[in-house]
Amino acid sequence: MMGKIILTGDRPTGRLHIGHYVGSLRRRVELQESGAFEKIFIMIADAQALTDNADNPEKVRQNILEVALDYLSCGLDPKKSTIFIQSQISELTELTFYYMNLVTVQRVQRNPTVKAEMLLRGFNDTEGADNKAGTPVGFFCYPISQAADITAFRATTVPVGEDQEPMIEQTREIVRKFNATYGPVLVEPDILLPENSACLRLPGTDGKAKMSKSLGNCIYLSDSAEEVAAKVKGMYTDPGHLQVSDPGKVEGNTVFTYLDAFCRPGDFERFGDCFKGRKSSFEFHDLDEMKAQYRAGGLGDVMCKNFLTAILNDTLEPIRVRRKALEQDIPYVYEVLREGSDKARELAADTLADVRRAMKINYFDPEILDELVREQSEKYANA
Ligand code: ATP
Ligand code: MG
Repeated sequence: MMGKIILTGDRPTGRLHIGHYVGSLRRRVELQESGAFEKIFIMIADAQALTDNADNPEKVRQNILEVALDYLSCGLDPKKSTIFIQSQISELTELTFYYMNLVTVQRVQRNPTVKAEMLLRGFNDTEGADNKAGTPVGFFCYPISQAADITAFRATTVPVGEDQEPMIEQTREIVRKFNATYGPVLVEPDILLPENSACLRLPGTDGKAKMSKSLGNCIYLSDSAEEVAAKVKGMYTDPGHLQVSDPGKVEGNTVFTYLDAFCRPGDFERFGDCFKGRKSSFEFHDLDEMKAQYRAGGLGDVMCKNFLTAILNDTLEPIRVRRKALEQDIPYVYEVLREGSDKARELAADTLADVRRAMKINYFDPEILDELVREQSEKYANA
């Protein structure tokens, strides 16, 4: 029985936000500490980020460090997890090129995440004079490059948010097609989704779409306590909840979705003061009691938001403290990335060698070359 291997990562298009935290990052740290995995690879997907940021390499370059700082501040430990930069593993692009032949254009076009992201980026618009409209071919192929990333490290387990489900499915299809065509070389991965449904796709502070760097509706892990308070204050709740005494809706109310994602046992005890007001006071023991009161009316948004701010800042404070310290040791961070990239390259090269062998494109491997020369010589000797 082979050990289990994790691969996951993030695009360096901005600092990481609390959607990343609940969707993937928090889980990664737990899995890292569980000891249940033989290897853990965490990839900063700069090559993928360039597929829709080709004209802005500086942004990608800057954010590699930001993402690395966020990782280390959250508790990813380079002794236990290999953190690396995608573009430094050229084996991945070669795998992508071979896998492209196993996927149709029509199949990628049906991928719901690709569809949604193309719409978001305006890639469906007809060709504009500024050459910005239309879909970069590299972007279109990113689900295939993701299959290369996952399979290069023989990952069994991919802990990601719900938006990545179609990508993992695409990878599984490529693995099956490859193995059926060339022999059993690649490992079929499983997705590992957050257990808590609020964490599958955390909405943005605007309450509309998923929290996403590209949409500017984020609470960043590196936001100050004041920034977090201000963002929560401006958050979308229930537009029908005009008077404090009105019954409020919990479903689709972003404050409650965030509470579902972040509230832990004990928070009502520790931050109970948030519910002590001049006009009315409450004592809740758990989220269900708080929700029941909100639904019944009488519990105002301000109290709920103060409570959420207290919880968020309590979660983020240790992360901020660690980040501040790491910001003073940038050489260390780059050393982690360099060492991680060297280590990642070894395994990717190993997988690529297996792939080339299976595809019979390893002409110059010593034994193969001898055999090839013999075989072709005989063909002509007998002609
Ligand atoms: P971009 O806008 O550049 O695509 P992003 O904010 O969507 O950035 P990614 O780097 O694409 O972030 O995603 C990294 C990981 O975080 C993926 O596993 C993804 O599923 C997860 N993730 C991103 N946003 C959320 C969210 N709002 N809720 C839960 N998980 C999320
Ligand atoms: Mg994304």
